[in-house]
Amino acid sequence: MGDKKKHINDAINLIENEIGEIFAASSMYLSEAWGFDSDTVFFNKVIAVETCFNVFEILDITQKIELKLGRTHKTTDKYQSRIIDIDILFYDDKIIETQRLTVPHPQIPNRRFTLQPLAEIASDFIHPVLNKNISQLLAECNDKSNVEQRNN
Ligand code: ATP
Ligand code: CA
Ligand code: CA
Repeated sequence: MGDKKKHINDAINLIENEIGEIFAASSMYLSEAWGFDSDTVFFNKVIAVETCFNVFEILDITQKIELKLGRTHKTTDKYQSRIIDIDILFYDDKIIETQRLTVPHPQIPNRRFTLQPLAEIASDFIHPVLNKNISQLLAECNDKSNVEQRNN
């Protein structure tokens, strides 16, 4: 919601300051709402970060960043628009399944808005659960919703 490009850039700056160096970043992508009806266009970007923190520490920090940028708590269990949403897609090839955290993010193969930017920066990266690389997952993805690469 709001100035979407700014929110994403603010989040990236905070991630760089608080989590670690960004060594790859996709372009910005525009996509339609996924999982609910909305006229809003969504902005998505995937970044790769080098960090000393463990994955639970990263979730703590990204959740603090979301709050700092003005994200409020959920009012419904359904998907809804928000100011910012920072998800952890992968953490090396680690597999984590706890109540608080699932890594790799379970929806990766189902979301073109995630796979397309991921393919831009990590097409050969092998999904440690599905044992396929990102290009393969994109080619096999059933989600045919519109995802558009932006030039800036
Ligand atoms: P989705 O996970 O389908 O993209 P969402 O991003 O809208 O949905 P949120 O409301 O942002 O969901 O997050 C709900 C909870 O998901 C968080 O509080 C967090 O504990 C948990 N979670 C589990 N796995 C992850 C992950 N890989 N990255 C971020 N949050 C995660
Ligand atoms: Ca999400
Ligand atoms: Ca999230």
